[in-house]
Amino acid sequence: MGNVIHAEPTDLIAVIRLRRGVVGECKRVSHLVPLPADGPIPDRLLAVCGEVILPAQAEVLDGIAGMPCEACLARQARRACRALR
Ligand SMILES: [Zn+2]
Repeated sequence: MGNVIHAEPTDLIAVIRLRRGVVGECKRVSHLVPLPADGPIPDRLLAVCGEVILPAQAEVLDGIAGMPCEACLARQARRACRALR
């Protein structure tokens, strides 16, 4: 799939942004959201930065686009570093 990043073999990360009109344009940043490797998409998604996102209010992006969430990028980088140790 083009819309997920494979961080670890069992850890799918989607890039998700709130839809236009849900929040102001300046808050429509691209969050990194871990998804379960199998099973249904949960009712509430938890971004790497801690933001709770309702799937009905969100759109899945084809990779990092628009304005990335800096907190998600920083935390994901730390997760990746820990995974390499
Ligand atoms: Zn975020």
